[in-house]
Amino acid sequence: MSDISNFEFKKKFGQNFLKDNNVLNNIVEKSEIEDDTLVIEIGVGAGYLTKYLAEKAKYVLGFEIDDSLKMIIANNLHEYNNVEIVFEDFLKANVTEKLKKYDYKHLYVIANLPYYITTPIIEKIIDLNIAEKLVVMVQKEVGDRFNAKMGTKEYNSLTLYLNYYFKISKVMDVSRNSFIPKPNVDSAVIKFERYSRNDCKNENLLFNIIRDSFQFKRKNLRNNLKNYDLVKIEKVLNKYGKDLTVRAENISLEEFIDISNNLEG
Ligand code: SAM
Repeated sequence: MSDISNFEFKKKFGQNFLKDNNVLNNIVEKSEIEDDTLVIEIGVGAGYLTKYLAEKAKYVLGFEIDDSLKMIIANNLHEYNNVEIVFEDFLKANVTEKLKKYDYKHLYVIANLPYYITTPIIEKIIDLNIAEKLVVMVQKEVGDRFNAKMGTKEYNSLTLYLNYYFKISKVMDVSRNSFIPKPNVDSAVIKFERYSRNDCKNENLLFNIIRDSFQFKRKNLRNNLKNYDLVKIEKVLNKYGKDLTVRAENISLEEFIDISNNLEG
């Protein structure tokens, strides 16, 4: 492995490299990478996770914004001919174009994400509609929000948005001591498995309703949704023993889908 003792870590890129072999091994094992899988890794760093991925996947397509890592990555990954590293900002990269030359059955995203852009990265992956599974290291408290239960303070519109597309589960917590340099927060590995859904008539409407319902967290649905047909909404809520005095954090995804379908139809 190439020495990183002289490397100048860049805080602005969220550079905390994962050096704990047990954790690296665990992430890859829990990802259950099937034959014929292309793995996208966002934020290759020194290539520590990439190496493990390259052992299991058919291809690894890595993105790294910092081209001062080029030599280190080249040294660490020279023995793998199934790895391509793109030195670009993942958020700006034309990912669909880069995937064209590959032949694969499954596409997973497995990464120790740069924490300052966790949500935009996940939103881009959802928009691209390419990945059937994501296994990603995120800041622990962000992971708790992804996975939050109804009625808790972490439950918000992002929770609902992500849970609409994916079955979400926590794989493990990871101590800050597993990284170089050591960050100020602990981390968690979260798994997202894509659903194929057909229970919502109009996804745009659903996400508008969800966003508006959470607009003023302390207000109830009657106030947050006053621009919608409140009579129809109340009828749906009554089915679940609720009424318009309920707050968004106490409405499940299925209930929001039911509300949206009734406003559409
Ligand atoms: N995968 C490595 C590991 O586990 O040791 C590095 C993880 S580190 C938390 C995040 C990496 O993402 C850094 O190498 C950083 O330079 C890179 N990065 C930050 N912003 C990025 C972006 N917009 N596109 C691609 N890579 C980015």
